[in-house]
Amino acid sequence: MCGIVGYTGKRDCIPILIEGLKRLEYRGYDSAGIGYFDKDKLAYIKRKGRVTELESLVEGGKIVSKTGIGHTRWATHGIPNEINAHPHFSKNRDILLIHNGIIENYQALKKILINEGYKFESETDSEVIVHLIDRFIKKGYSFSDSVRHTLIEIEGTYGLAIIYEKEPDKIIAAKKGSPLVIGIGGDENIIASDINALIAHTKQVIYLEDYEIAEITKEGILVRNIHDIPVEKEVIELSMTVEEISKGGYSTFMLKEIFEQPDALTNAMRGRIIVDEGRVKLGGLEGIMDRLYHSERIIISGCGTSWHAGLVGEYMFEQYLRIPTEVEYASEFRYRNPVLSEKDAVIFISQSGETADTLAALKEAKTKGALCLGICNAVGSSIARESHGGVYTHAGPEIGVASTKAFTSQLVVLALITILLARRKELSLTDGRNLLTEFQSIPDKVRKILELNNQIEKIAEDFKNSTNFLYLGRGYNFPVALEGALKLKEISYIHAEGYPAAEMKHGPIALIDENMPVVVIAPKDSTYEKIISNIQEVKARNGKIIAIAIEGDDEIEKIVDYVIRVPDTIRIFMPILTVLPLQLLAYHIAVNKGLNVDQPRNLAKSVTVE
Ligand code: GLU
Repeated sequence: MCGIVGYTGKRDCIPILIEGLKRLEYRGYDSAGIGYFDKDKLAYIKRKGRVTELESLVEGGKIVSKTGIGHTRWATHGIPNEINAHPHFSKNRDILLIHNGIIENYQALKKILINEGYKFESETDSEVIVHLIDRFIKKGYSFSDSVRHTLIEIEGTYGLAIIYEKEPDKIIAAKKGSPLVIGIGGDENIIASDINALIAHTKQVIYLEDYEIAEITKEGILVRNIHDIPVEKEVIELSMTVEEISKGGYSTFMLKEIFEQPDALTNAMRGRIIVDEGRVKLGGLEGIMDRLYHSERIIISGCGTSWHAGLVGEYMFEQYLRIPTEVEYASEFRYRNPVLSEKDAVIFISQSGETADTLAALKEAKTKGALCLGICNAVGSSIARESHGGVYTHAGPEIGVASTKAFTSQLVVLALITILLARRKELSLTDGRNLLTEFQSIPDKVRKILELNNQIEKIAEDFKNSTNFLYLGRGYNFPVALEGALKLKEISYIHAEGYPAAEMKHGPIALIDENMPVVVIAPKDSTYEKIISNIQEVKARNGKIIAIAIEGDDEIEKIVDYVIRVPDTIRIFMPILTVLPLQLLAYHIAVNKGLNVDQPRNLAKSVTVE
């Protein structure tokens, strides 16, 4: 996920681009760059890091241009550095391109282009696009037809803005899967990834749809689709204020990120699932596949929410791979001199890839000869770089301190690793296909659960004065109970504990009275009857029960106080669904208490201290 902005018109574009990039910076801040016309030649300035770094280089009218494009990057392919920063140049430095998205077939295309003599400067997937456009221009196609033919060849997602030396006052923009909106001004037009970047200039906008290509000049906007058919676009009048939209219309980043989960999970799966072959493809594990496959033990290590994801991973690996798996707090792992050898694989999970405890544990495991893998969200982060291999979650930037979409994306990646290895072990083609078919339906099921937001908001009102909470789950849903309790603690400052449901009778049951809300995760699986008994035990002591149950389970509502229903799925995927109501419950309780959910007291996002 990155931010794109482009301007063509009567004014100098540089301050408009810089201002726009600042407003889009929440979408990524690995690097920032602008492309513009230096008289009649194209030029760019790009820097690793934040937009302010770039701003200092262009301040005070050092550069003036009437047409330009700008990009703030959230790296997916290639570490965050200056070379990988956008824009990217064509061979003759006469085309400049910025891209938001992932080109899934970039490796195949890159091979073809290299054979034809194209040289690649960056490690990004995006660079293939600019060379493909160049290739069509060389064959005699017009600028816009070259873009259109290129789009037919690429697979994946894109929001693009391109400028070409020979057509100086024009930007070509195109979209598939990544957002693009065009703002209409008088004698000027602006494109951007979202309205944040253009609302200061105009309130009249056109939203580009997938497979649409726009030719933008200061005089007008021409939209065609990929089949070269002109498209009539509706102009929409915006009524939002700048403040409202910086969080995409949501009141907080956390709520926005909760609601981004269907897309985040789709991104985590994108290009990695081959349903027909019942198979998973993970480029980041290719070089170490044999060693991973032959590992005699897997250890998963992380902190906080990532540790909970690891616990779910333990159930996945032991069920499908039959490899003994342990989960370790990264902070403890290093200090107790763990017994490790070359036969162990250790998977380190960290959203930021910079968690100091996890990084230290990784270095220790490496020293002891274990195979080290990383599951990170931030591309090029320290953990990603230090590991022997790994898988990115591609969830997009997570700004809210309490992790939501990063957690569910980590579960997706752990499931992908499980299925990848299981197919090399005992999982049959049919079972692989069935699993993956169900897996693909998970983002839609998540979408359905998010529709329960109002119901959960109402339930939350009844609990804003509670001082304690208990969360219970069994099997795959025990880690979800821990995660639900952690979310509540983090943002609502209510004391909460997660327990394996059966453990309740060995201690926590003493706490239960009419003031103790108990959240019970009760899907209809082999643990259902036992969970119902645990619910009865709480009821008998007057505890208030909120059950997370499966759609169609009509029995449970007779014995609990509140039911939140989620669609059914295969056990391995269930935690991705059952955690959602718990995120929303914690969220609404905290908001009801008037707390700042995005920046809860005492916490920070990327914990780079041990
Ligand atoms: N895939 C491109 C890159 O890694 C674009 C990433 C983005 O959308 O932020 O540079």
